[in-house]
Amino acid sequence: MHRFVFFSFLVVASVFAVELSEKRGGLCFRSDDNHTPAKWKRLAEVFEKHDFPLCASLNFVMGAPRPGWVQMVKDLQARGHEVMDHSPNHRVFQMRFGSDEAAAAMLGKPAVDHVSGSNVYFQYRLQKDAKPYGEGMARVSGNLFKPTGGGEVKRWRGIPFLRFDGVEGVFLLASQRDDGSFELRSFWGEGNVDLDAEREVRYHRLTKEQILSFPDALRVQAEAVRAVCTRHGLALPTTWIQPGGAEPVLWRWDVAAVFGKEFGYTSGATYPDCSLKCFNEYDPDGDRRFGMQWGNFIEDGQDLEWNKARIADGVARHYVMIGHSHLGGPAKLGGWEGTLKRTDELLSWCRETGIPVRTQTEWARILYDLKTDPAVNVFPALGMDRDANGVPDGLSLGWGVKVEASVAGTVLVATRSGKICMVNRLGGLEKGENQLRIAVEGALGSSLQTQVRFPGLRSAQAAEVTIGELGKAVLDCAVVVPPKASWGIVTLSCQLAKGTSLRMSQPVLSMPPVKR
Ligand SMILES: [Zn+2]
Repeated sequence: MHRFVFFSFLVVASVFAVELSEKRGGLCFRSDDNHTPAKWKRLAEVFEKHDFPLCASLNFVMGAPRPGWVQMVKDLQARGHEVMDHSPNHRVFQMRFGSDEAAAAMLGKPAVDHVSGSNVYFQYRLQKDAKPYGEGMARVSGNLFKPTGGGEVKRWRGIPFLRFDGVEGVFLLASQRDDGSFELRSFWGEGNVDLDAEREVRYHRLTKEQILSFPDALRVQAEAVRAVCTRHGLALPTTWIQPGGAEPVLWRWDVAAVFGKEFGYTSGATYPDCSLKCFNEYDPDGDRRFGMQWGNFIEDGQDLEWNKARIADGVARHYVMIGHSHLGGPAKLGGWEGTLKRTDELLSWCRETGIPVRTQTEWARILYDLKTDPAVNVFPALGMDRDANGVPDGLSLGWGVKVEASVAGTVLVATRSGKICMVNRLGGLEKGENQLRIAVEGALGSSLQTQVRFPGLRSAQAAEVTIGELGKAVLDCAVVVPPKASWGIVTLSCQLAKGTSLRMSQPVLSMPPVKR
């Protein structure tokens, strides 16, 4: 039987409008690790009640054989939630295969160091010119390590790797004993270390960021996840999430090179130098989308008010914020049930106050693919107080400054000289020349000062306007945003004629033409 395929080419004459981003910040709720389908279902129901998506970061190879897991992923995907790749077995330098035979077949493959049972252990390498986190002398013997000369190993759980002069390989600090010595394990955590008879050696500590993986190891993992999806008819994940634990952590460019370029992933979460996730973030290599780490708000570990305050403040300054959940919660906040309730309340508040909630994949597209509308006023709205704390979101107010509603909108009233307000780390700025416009009312001789700073980029710009006899003035100045700036600090202050006050209306900071 022949099948004829006809291609028709449609020439569309109309001009499509380019989709521009309004630079509206928002939220992504990410929950990690494999939990029972029943737990995921309950969480999904909370999100579906508010018509918002959740993001589930799962270990595909570990999860797939478990009862109900595949159907759960299908259901989540069918309902518009995002299922993310959290590595095959919650490890990057080690992978458990389905059988000893499958693992043994990996021996001799690129990036494979050794195989034991069904586990494949991947090679690692040290970052070039890695400066040791700390170094000193230690006595070692067998699998024991003890710093000498009063040396103390600080934060050893967070920075657990070290190497020794004259000894090959990197070792992992395991438990510390009462006498101050540590048990040494292999780089991968195996209990097979034997450094021979006792002697003194020089040690160099290494941070998790200084130990790197090989692209071939990541390829094996991406292929394993893809194979699970193909076998079970699941949609392929498009987001890679760094698993936590004692292992070294990947850099965003390593994730981008393999998962992004070769496997079509569009974003990721990595720890070192993670992305700011604000609009117009400086991104010369186009890989910031692979550093979208979580923890900007913590719905499973902090109470509702804490979360609302953080979210309101970040969203007002044009940031995308990613939550944090392991489908549990501290007992003092009601455990898992408390987290469900808090999540429900947060989502309901997002609906009421117009905070968008999207998947990470969708946010990556909006943040890093879309062009921004330069005419949007990026100065936080004085009338916006989503967390109802009496302070406009995104601002900190000076002493004695009041917020007043007026027919012309919300104004700030300064009753003494000094700071009116500050916006720290304001995102969404357009690179190049912007316009800052602020109208004030007050007594003759009172003045308004503005300062916009870009710390680290040696740029600070100041302007001033003085009120004349009409009792009004408009400050209108240029603010040049350096090409490398992702955010700036805006400070507004005043000098008042004695015994008077000053009213400041909504500042406008945008690229002309100004949108009012
Ligand atoms: Zn995890």
